[in-house]
Amino acid sequence: MTEPTSLTGNVRPLRPAAAVLPCHLCPDDDQALADPMLTVTFRAGFGPPRLVSLCSLCYLGRPSRKQTDLGSADLAWRALEGDVTRLLAGHEQGLWNPSDGELEFAAGLARMPWSEESMRTAVREAHSLAYAGRLVRALDNNAIVVPRHVPADDRALHSLRRLVDLLATEAERPREGSLQASSG
Ligand SMILES: [Zn+2]
Repeated sequence: MTEPTSLTGNVRPLRPAAAVLPCHLCPDDDQALADPMLTVTFRAGFGPPRLVSLCSLCYLGRPSRKQTDLGSADLAWRALEGDVTRLLAGHEQGLWNPSDGELEFAAGLARMPWSEESMRTAVREAHSLAYAGRLVRALDNNAIVVPRHVPADDRALHSLRRLVDLLATEAERPREGSLQASSG
């Protein structure tokens, strides 16, 4: 028997009518497929504006969702969203354990109204107090840019709100091993 043994000989590649592209806004390590119906105008610093497709998360969540152009706030939001999502997942899996300083920083964020100015001040103070950790790094600049373009309760900030509230709750909880007998 000398039949060809190639298993791939009979496999026909699937050829969709139109190629499905990755979302233009998603970062490389967290990329979703674009919906060809959800297009925005992307103006690079050079060359003519062109239409690009986004995934529904980016299309509906981005700060400039009411505009047909992809804005710089959208880029900042997507980077922030990616960082925050990674921190949430890392924390859930026990891979990221924020320091007491970071928990306190998050508790402060949870209490204050969010605006470009308040975020800028909070991040600057966190740096000067040497709280610098993954949380502060994730917020730096992107969490200052996004509130410039959206109100504090905008859905563009929902993931960050979820993370901050989670950490703020932890900050209030007595740590294991640090329980002290209190004589009431
Ligand atoms: Zn996307």
